[in-house]
Amino acid sequence: MIAAAPMISVAEARAALLQLVTPTEIETVPLAEAAGRVLARPVVARRDQPPFDASAMDGYAVNAAEVEHHAMFKVIGESAAGHGYAGRVGAGQAVRIFTGAPVPEGASHVVIQEDVTRKGDLITLASPPDGATNIRPRGGDFAVGQVVEAPHLLGPADVALLAAMNIADVPVHRRPVVALMSTGDELVMPGETPGPDQIIVSNTFGLKAMLEAHGAEVRVLPIARDTKSSLRQAFDFAGDVDLLVTIGGASVGDHDLVAAVAQELGLERSFYKVAMRPGKPLMAGRFRRSAMVGLPGNPVSAMVCGRIFVVSMVRALLGLSPDVDAISQAPLAIALSENGPRAHYMRAFWSGGGLQPFDSQDSSLLSVLARAEALILRPPHAPAAQPGDTVDYLTL
Ligand code: AMP
Ligand code: MG
Repeated sequence: MIAAAPMISVAEARAALLQLVTPTEIETVPLAEAAGRVLARPVVARRDQPPFDASAMDGYAVNAAEVEHHAMFKVIGESAAGHGYAGRVGAGQAVRIFTGAPVPEGASHVVIQEDVTRKGDLITLASPPDGATNIRPRGGDFAVGQVVEAPHLLGPADVALLAAMNIADVPVHRRPVVALMSTGDELVMPGETPGPDQIIVSNTFGLKAMLEAHGAEVRVLPIARDTKSSLRQAFDFAGDVDLLVTIGGASVGDHDLVAAVAQELGLERSFYKVAMRPGKPLMAGRFRRSAMVGLPGNPVSAMVCGRIFVVSMVRALLGLSPDVDAISQAPLAIALSENGPRAHYMRAFWSGGGLQPFDSQDSSLLSVLARAEALILRPPHAPAAQPGDTVDYLTL
């Protein structure tokens, strides 16, 4: 049954996976917790910034019409940040003013203090004016009604902007909950003592880090063993999540039971094999109230499929466009032979301004993946390529 499943392209697989997810609901978080979250609804500035014409410098506020070299003014008061000058600046008058303070009525220019000599209450403009008014106009940063559009991943500068707009509570998409289930009799947790035939589970941790970096809340399920009963237990334990990711057991070996058990428990499978390297065995569908993706167990396959497929699903759950970044182009550092029928995601490093694939592209080599700086994307049946030829790549 499994061997007969048709191979589909990476693009078809991505489209099918994205069909399985819709954006999570909207919740409100305090501004202090909004960084890294996805703004779910447009928000609107509630005030002008600055809320008044404000001084950009420390100096003296005067009437612009009176500003000329050697002009004299009488200082009649002070306007500091948080404490404006209530009166009016008349002819021949100046108000001592500081950065961020309101420009008093009657004033339309701030002479910077370096350009002034002062004796008692009298100042003289010691330099010719340079044309700058040194005033930040009301609403010059943003005005009431200015919109921050959604969806938008909020970075530190966005949080500062929302704060300045006086938006204390921020509507964001709920973080999608992703459950990660590793499967295999050979796997033990890091820190445990493996038996002679065992290895340490690694994919769970790599994928957890990857998906959390993209805004998911990740739950690590207990490792399922290669028996139907252990798998059934693990599936039941997963509960309802936005996305259930199984790792391993998705191939065609005698111990690869994930698809069989998932289908027995109600998985509506939407596809099974993708024409890509690494990562051919991959399944997906709806499982109870969750979207489900079954990743291959080989560590590099799992991480590459995580990057190509699962990250996009997390982004779609957050209401974002599925692509993390655009595909870039660079010259090849070495020659490559013709590609086979599967898209090849080659682990590569920068070498002399070009990208060079590592000699070994085996999908079990985490040490190579950890050193890789990019994935070269070779389409199915790409012809042989020479050094200097352009290839597509994704930055890792
Ligand atoms: P499988 O897809 O279960 O046949 O696994 C393929 C290979 O990946 C085997 O060598 C497994 O030992 C290894 N593998 C499977 N799952 C994991 C995991 N979670 N962490 C590290 N290696 C794994
Ligand atoms: Mg296995």
